This record gives sequence, C-alpha cells and structure tokens, in this order.
Amino acid sequence: MGVYPATMPRSDDDPELAVALLDEIAWLPVEHDWSFRADQPEGGFNRYGWGSADQARFDECWDTDVYVLADDLIATSGAMWPWAMPRLALARHPSFAACVLGLAERREVGRRHTYRDRPQSVYELAMMYGSFDHVRLERGPDGWPPAPWLACPVCGARFWAAILSPWMLRQYGPPRFCNRCCVRARNGRSWGDRDAALTGIRRLAAAIEGIPDQQLAAHVSLAGIADDRRDAIIVGLIVAPAPSSAKEQLGATWLRVLQASGLVGEAWRPARGTYCIATDGHPCRSLAERTVDDFLSAHGIAHDPEPRYPGSARRADWGLADGTLIEYAGLLTDDEYSAKIAEKRSIAAASGVGLLVLVPEDLPNLGRALGAWLPPS
Ligand SMILES: [Zn+2]
Repeated sequence: MGVYPATMPRSDDDPELAVALLDEIAWLPVEHDWSFRADQPEGGFNRYGWGSADQARFDECWDTDVYVLADDLIATSGAMWPWAMPRLALARHPSFAACVLGLAERREVGRRHTYRDRPQSVYELAMMYGSFDHVRLERGPDGWPPAPWLACPVCGARFWAAILSPWMLRQYGPPRFCNRCCVRARNGRSWGDRDAALTGIRRLAAAIEGIPDQQLAAHVSLAGIADDRRDAIIVGLIVAPAPSSAKEQLGATWLRVLQASGLVGEAWRPARGTYCIATDGHPCRSLAERTVDDFLSAHGIAHDPEPRYPGSARRADWGLADGTLIEYAGLLTDDEYSAKIAEKRSIAAASGVGLLVLVPEDLPNLGRALGAWLPPS
C-alpha cells in the first residue's frame, strides 16, 4: 500500500477551495496506466515494435553515466521514470543523446515505429524503451517499486500514481496530486463571481510569493519545490480564475487584471519579465528560475543573474565564478526544446564559455546537475 499523508486534505478547512473543487471539470485525460513496471517485460505503454535488434544498437550508446540519470529519476518519479529520459538525457548527457538520435536519424532503430520517418519520435521511443529494457534486464523485477497509491493532499481523493499523465509530472513534480486536481490547477476556475476571481488571484500571488503571469498555469514547474509549498501553489492555481475568466471579470488585459487585484500599481511593468524574487533578491522570470537561484544561494555558489555571452548582446540566466553560463530551458515543445538547446550550445561554443543547460526534469535533482560546483561535503 502506498504512503498516506497524516494530515487532512486542505479542502477540509478551506471553504474557497472546497467550492472550487465542486466546479465541473471541462475535460479529463483518459485514465491510462502510464507506469513502467519492473516486473513486466513489455513495459506499461506502447512499445511501437521496439525489439531486441533495436535494443542491441541502443546498448552500444549506453555507458555508466546513464545509470546515474536513471537512478535519479527512479528516486523522484518511481515507475514513471522512463518518461523523463528523452529530455533529461539531452541536457545532462549530450553525447549519449546524440548517439541515440544518430541511430534514429539513420533509421538503425525504430523501424517498426508508426512514425519511423520522424527521428525525434524515434529518439523518444528509444530513450524510453531502451532505458527501460536496459535497467529492467540488469536489475530484475524488483529494480524499482510499482506506482504507489496516494492520497491527494488537496482534495483527499485516493488515487493510483500510474494514472498521472507525463505532463502532470513534468509540471507539478514527483507524484503527489490526483489527476483531477492537476487538471483543475492547469485550467483555473471558469465559474465564480468577481469576488471569487479577486480572492483567487490574490491567493495565487501569495502562494507563489510573486506576480502571476498570464501563462503561469501553462508553464509552471513545481518540481524541486518543498511539498508544503507545492500544495499551497496547487491550491492557488485551483482557486485562481482561468486567464480568460479573469479578463471577463476584472479587466480587458492581464495588466488590468493585476491592477484590479491590487497586486501591482498603475505604473507597473514587468522589468525584463521579472515575476518573482529569489531569496537573495535576484529577479526571476518563473518559479523554476527561483528554484534554481535559491539552490545556488543555499549552497553558497556565487552566481550573477543575466550575464552576457562574451562578444554578444545575448544574455544567459546566470553566470558562475568560473565563467560557466547557466540557462534554464523551461517547458517547450519537443522541437523547440532541442532547437533551443542546440542554439545555446553553439552560441556558447562560439564564445568559448562553458554552458550548463537546466531543464524541468533537473529541478528535483539540482545537486546532480550542479554537482561540480558544490562545496565538498
Ligand atoms: Zn486532488
């Protein structure tokens, strides 16, 4: 049986949340078993024909550093870990990712895939099933635990973590919130009067300790944030109005919405997209950037926000004392994502500086990505 939180769900003593939870949910993803089970050779999803010949080629790309990635993901995402491999490998282990992408481009793997002519799709299939098969064969049926049953700390519903869609884990972090609350958080409220909209948006601002931008619900990454803060932010997203609803109730533009809520003054404009402030006072454009900034300061790693690339007008997100630049690549589509990382890498290479690209999948394991800069313990 899974872990049960000892505390009551937040809806028990939160009337606004209790009312928001009664709203009809416009759509719910199909409740599918998305988990990869160590005791099931086929895995839990669709293998698209991935077989032993594919696996043999994939294994030629594998090295011991890939186990480190897999172990980190198993620790944070349990039986959902293979979903994060394609993106995490691209950021943390570029040579491995390039090797697998090469196989996909030359059609040396995934020949039975429905989308065999799309290297990006074959790459993802290979990263997920190749990694799954490799680790499962090596570690056996007890290699990692099955998806647990959990109690949602927001609404109290009991649910199986395997039904959480991959986007829910990417946005909200390790399994914790039920799929209904994830969808509620993603959508915001479409019902309620002007007062409910005002209260909701103020509560969201308080929970994120910043100014919600219009795309917050669509782009937020809560991985790497402490559980009680994650709970408060999910509640804020659930009670806050959907952007379209907020604009109907409070003002024609998002700026008017923020002004009507008293969150910003008449003269406010987001300075270079700053929506919240890190513990050390650095401006951040998102909660994820704040998670990274706070990690750096908590571990005594000196960092300079928004440094320029040498000889370029472009700016990175942070610069470290040894000259390394860090970029956080937030939630992007697969194509945008690889293109953006490739672009940043070539700018850095041309400028002769080291570049570290962080992705949402890194947020629960920043100690790994930033291990080289951590003081010896
Ligand atoms: Zn829930």
